[in-house]
Amino acid sequence: MKIFCIGRNYVNHAKELKNPIPKQPLVFTKPITALLTKDKPFYYPAFSTDIHFEAELVLKMSRHGRHIDEKFAYKYYDEIAVGIDLTARDVQQNLKEKGHPWDIAKGFDGSGPISEFVPIDNLKDKENIKFSLTQNGEQKQIGFSKDMIFSFNILIAHLSKYFTLQKGDYIYTGTPEGVGPVAIGDKLEVFLEDETMLKCEIK
Ligand code: ZN
Repeated sequence: MKIFCIGRNYVNHAKELKNPIPKQPLVFTKPITALLTKDKPFYYPAFSTDIHFEAELVLKMSRHGRHIDEKFAYKYYDEIAVGIDLTARDVQQNLKEKGHPWDIAKGFDGSGPISEFVPIDNLKDKENIKFSLTQNGEQKQIGFSKDMIFSFNILIAHLSKYFTLQKGDYIYTGTPEGVGPVAIGDKLEVFLEDETMLKCEIK
């Protein structure tokens, strides 16, 4: 099973970190050991002092495929979750300056809290899916899937040019603006439409 993540997929988030708007999807991966399920807490690691939350919609592949045409990509997923792409921003900044891969900054243990998956067909507006994140009860991020630079279908077409997508693979589809640091004691909550899907306490 693979976990793909997309960077800079919302214009206003790319801008807030002073990154260019990508011309094609920016792809990275997390290992399976990054996943944090069932609302388990996240333990702040010693190697960073600047861990950021990034709330994201996460797709789960329902079929095996490669070289998937964008037109048919919708047939390859039918469930969605919300997740947090926890990022060691200080470590990432260091790696970016050296032109090194981001794996350590993005793939460390527990860096991928994730909710249960629900059928996309259950959503009120699956063409423009709303999600949001609160930190200690205060809303910090709100996103709408229509604002993605690269749609779900474009992402699947793109990824499947390089990787065989397998049933059960996850795709973290990028974060909207409003990312910020977490502190020990924080309580993060992520909502899909207006329903709480994911809770994560920072310990
Ligand atoms: Zn992200």
